[in-house]
Amino acid sequence: MKPYVYLIGAGPGDEDLITIKGLNAIKAADVILYDRLASPRLLKHAKATAELIDVGKSPNNHQYSQEEINRLLVEKAETAGIVARLKGGDPYVFGRGGEEALSLREAGIPFEIIPGITSAISVPSYAGIPVTHRNVSTSLHIITGNEAPTKGENTVNYEALARLSGTLVFLMGMANLQEIIKQLIKYGKSADTSAAIIHRGTTAKQQVVVGTMENIVALATESNIKSPAIIIIGEVVKLRETLNWYESLPLFGKRVLVTRSRQQAGELTGRLKALGAEAIEYPTIEIVPPEDFTAIDHKLMKICEAQYLIFTSVNGVEAFFHSLKRLKRDVRSIGEGRIIAIGTATAEALTAKGLLVDDIPEVFTAEGILQLLQGMIKKGDRVLLPRADIARKNLVEGLLKLGAEVEEIEIYRTIVPHHSKEELHRILKEGVDIITFTSSSTVNNFMAILEAENIGELQNIKIAAIGPITAATAKERGLRVDIEAKSYTIEGLVAAIREDIICQC
Ligand code: SAH
Repeated sequence: MKPYVYLIGAGPGDEDLITIKGLNAIKAADVILYDRLASPRLLKHAKATAELIDVGKSPNNHQYSQEEINRLLVEKAETAGIVARLKGGDPYVFGRGGEEALSLREAGIPFEIIPGITSAISVPSYAGIPVTHRNVSTSLHIITGNEAPTKGENTVNYEALARLSGTLVFLMGMANLQEIIKQLIKYGKSADTSAAIIHRGTTAKQQVVVGTMENIVALATESNIKSPAIIIIGEVVKLRETLNWYESLPLFGKRVLVTRSRQQAGELTGRLKALGAEAIEYPTIEIVPPEDFTAIDHKLMKICEAQYLIFTSVNGVEAFFHSLKRLKRDVRSIGEGRIIAIGTATAEALTAKGLLVDDIPEVFTAEGILQLLQGMIKKGDRVLLPRADIARKNLVEGLLKLGAEVEEIEIYRTIVPHHSKEELHRILKEGVDIITFTSSSTVNNFMAILEAENIGELQNIKIAAIGPITAATAKERGLRVDIEAKSYTIEGLVAAIREDIICQC
């Protein structure tokens, strides 16, 4: 085990603004020390065995001093191996990354700096403000705002700053906002210079106040805008009027909880983010292999005898092919059976494996499949049904009624992932606008984690269901379903959410 430390810039808040190199380092780390400003959501990429340490120094919850962090980095590298130090923005822009690197050098521990996207540039971008612009601003100055201009410790030269015509960006300046503006005006900067304050840029909580140096302090007080925020001064601010792209996205400002399994959340999360939402993954379901393969293998060996193969989920397809492979078999062993997929996603998964689907029902439910097969299935036809351990019984019952001989294969299991309830409560407390459910089990598991008596916490949150079965389960569990997809796919779910939000405006 060799000690090695990565000092990683995690970007300004939008978790996707990390670099590929930074993400790879998170994946490789044995220990991760992270900040309050670094997106905690990036931690989902960590190894399951990685130790995660929150060294965030929130104002009222002072946990680790800088010296302690420096020491911890050295200690963890020596005892555990690869350490990732995740810092907000860029590690070397007011991030004290230099101090951490120096202490690693002193201890003889090899390290690497992985630059990040600094808030100084990206936060204005997301507010529609380019930090430089031809004929408007030809330089950019990034300044610390936490040295009170009137106190003796101040090393910032306001007189020089006031003379600059470029864009001024102050970080950590909210406590000294009034003084910063006062000093700049005192040294001759025109009071009608445009100014903006951007709070928690690049996230759903982004809040922007725009004015001039003259009125920005009053406007900030009025709108109660708080730290963390950047202060930007210069005529580039005016471009926001036309270039404000992020806040114009249809789902901007919405925090949406995704309860799908980690492996499957990607498509939903990606579509929500593309519409400007902040998607928070909190999987309430985990797909795991069966405990015993004996019965499965026995049934799979006779697969070519089936007249119908019905797949009811993407997970079922994946697990089915996994099992075939384990038996050292492939698609050739399937025989002549008709291949049915419950919906388009399942059909696509089958096609990806080289199997063309014969039928997809009009309605993507078990009832839809039964309707499709009515009149098609003959008495005594063998139907193979690879499915989850918790699948609804109605498909089997319906097939039996049609005279089929049904061979069910419990090809995968679903479990509630190991989660802390605290994490869910923390997410809900931070504010969630919509919770998405993509199957009945996501509803049931979510409610099991939340516990029925805490249902009140969901009062102001909209519930979105992928289809009628999931919606019915949600209602049974006492939830009010506000959004229901018209076509029972991820795309349909996202379309329904979008429609609901647009209708409201
Ligand atoms: N290394 C970081 C800056 C750390 S100093 C970087 O490169 O961005 C912390 C300050 O950064 C905050 O007080 C605030 O001024 C600014 N900041 C960081 N993230 C921000 C965000 N998402 N929105 C607004 N300001 C942010």
